[in-house]
Amino acid sequence: MNLHEYQSKQLFADYGIPVPSGIAVKSPEAAVDAAKELGGELWVVKAQVHAGGRGKAGGVKLSRSLDEVRDFAKGMLGTQLVTHQSGPEGLPVNVVYVESGSDIDRELYLSMLVDREVSRVAFIASAAGGMDIEKVAAETPEKIFTVAIAPDAGLQDYQARQLAFGLGLDKTQMRQFGDIVHRLYRLFDECDASLVEINPLIVTKAGNVVALDGKINIDSNA
Ligand code: ADP
Ligand code: MG
Repeated sequence: MNLHEYQSKQLFADYGIPVPSGIAVKSPEAAVDAAKELGGELWVVKAQVHAGGRGKAGGVKLSRSLDEVRDFAKGMLGTQLVTHQSGPEGLPVNVVYVESGSDIDRELYLSMLVDREVSRVAFIASAAGGMDIEKVAAETPEKIFTVAIAPDAGLQDYQARQLAFGLGLDKTQMRQFGDIVHRLYRLFDECDASLVEINPLIVTKAGNVVALDGKINIDSNA
């Protein structure tokens, strides 16, 4: 079972992993109401489909007014969104997620998966997160690193620090990040996930670490 972004973020929030506030809606009017309820001056309208690459395909739109929120929601709902992961027919957009806009300083990559080769859970991370991660993986794979977790020992503090150092985080962010990876590890374990991906995990201009995108696959054989 694959979760939509908004469902993944709900689960992140349940586990105390910081995410922006957001509301999932099915109509342009409801999108405007959602933006009003969220408040602020910057919103992001995000198509909820089971495919990455939405940003480059017009499925993630920064909106600076309620009119823009309405127009972007209208432009997405009821259409097929074609991304490089969706297949040529694209995927139907029945739900959009209206989210508070974040002030982004850095975009990092963090995921957890079961490494079948060594039958261990592993964290994969990169300081070069964001929409070009596939290009990074193809052209500069040395920018992506792995930390494998021994099942009997579980996630150790030194491993959380290893990840944080690799991501170039400072001391304050390291504390926040350490908290996030421990919570993520617990989520992965308790929910029988086979994949959790946060791309991007951001550092905000105020210096906070926040999950800005979320993808969770739950093992259906569990
Ligand atoms: P996808 O991975 O499908 O392209 P993302 O959710 O990762 O979709 O969004 C793409 C990009 O849009 C992010 O890398 C980020 O730069 C920007 N973005 C997404 N959500 C927000 C937000 N809440 N505030 C500001 N920028 C955002
Ligand atoms: Mg993403």
